[in-house]
Amino acid sequence: MTIKRWAEDLAKIVNPGNIKINESLKTYTMTKLGGNADIFVLPETEEEATAVVKYAYQHEVPLLMLGNGSNMVVRDGGVRGIVISFTKLDEIRLDGEKIYAQSGALIKEVSRTAAANSLTGFEFACGIPGSVGGAMAMNAGAYGGEIKDIIVDCTVLTKEGERIVLSKEELELDYRKSIIAKKEYFVLSSNFLLKKGNQQEIDEKVADLTYKRESKQPLEYPSAGSVFKRPPGYFAGKLIQDSGLQGKGVGGAEVSTKHAGFIINKGQATATDYIQTIEMVQRTVKENFDIELELEVKIVGEDLTN
Ligand SMILES: Cc1cc2nc3c(=O)[nH]c(=O)nc-3n(C[C@H](O)[C@H](O)[C@H](O)COP(=O)(O)OP(=O)(O)OC[C@H]3O[C@@H](n4cnc5c(N)ncnc54)[C@H](O)[C@@H]3O)c2cc1C
Repeated sequence: MTIKRWAEDLAKIVNPGNIKINESLKTYTMTKLGGNADIFVLPETEEEATAVVKYAYQHEVPLLMLGNGSNMVVRDGGVRGIVISFTKLDEIRLDGEKIYAQSGALIKEVSRTAAANSLTGFEFACGIPGSVGGAMAMNAGAYGGEIKDIIVDCTVLTKEGERIVLSKEELELDYRKSIIAKKEYFVLSSNFLLKKGNQQEIDEKVADLTYKRESKQPLEYPSAGSVFKRPPGYFAGKLIQDSGLQGKGVGGAEVSTKHAGFIINKGQATATDYIQTIEMVQRTVKENFDIELELEVKIVGEDLTN
């Protein structure tokens, strides 16, 4: 009854075609796991996004932000309340050495726009499969570059639906951390600043990083990328590899034989398989090296109840 009521209310805010009830989140997450969202909503404008956030706050409906689902594991029981996605807010605009991108644009598209316009600084993100919003929340980075290096400012909504602009310093970007994740802000858009570069060097860098990624990561399987953060002074993948865990797992989930930091879904994994594999890895690495592997991926939702 409550879900129907929320859906009716939301239909006054967004196009009813963009509201889905009891929607499977498997399609929207790169692990291809997990249960359903009570309500899944896709605003098409920033005004609609603001109105949905305000509605959830005022009616005390749990609201979960889903980006491109590349760092998210949804439990098998799914997510109660509203799951919101900004994938329809995907404008990318170039202005000299600046790029404005909305939250739902893919970070690799922004990287491609920079490269295509001879701008350097964004090459590191050419293979990161997240959205701008997710990349901001996680301070995404790869091969020595990170969002922190190129960000100017970011416009967010607070939980109450107030729109604020955060400067680079106010974003508190650190290794896979930001004020956005801490305060549960909703990213609307970001401004990035790059430099004019040499087209050939940019193209070579992108080709090199693409080759490295494709040869070292199990991109042929669903996964959430690197499951664990890098523990200070170590590499999570190396600790897992040295623990002999590659190829091991629970049910349809397995520690990748190609990259030990990745846990793949071989096709039929449940979220429970995936999470139990994560826990098995954490337990074994703790026993072997006395190191706690902290999660980089976000695990959300509820377990199945019988
Ligand atoms: C094959 C593969 C390779 C990867 N390689 C890298 C890599 O090299 N470097 C790297 O850093 N990451 C990597 N990742 C992880 C992932 O792509 C990044 O963390 C990315 O930034 C997540 O973005 P997303 O839009 O998919 O976020 P999601 O997975 O949807 O969400 C992640 C978190 O961000 C929050 N979030 C999402 N959108 C918003 C928003 N608009 N406002 C506020 N919060 C938001 C979510 O609530 C959640 O807490 C990889 C993942 C895969 C599957």
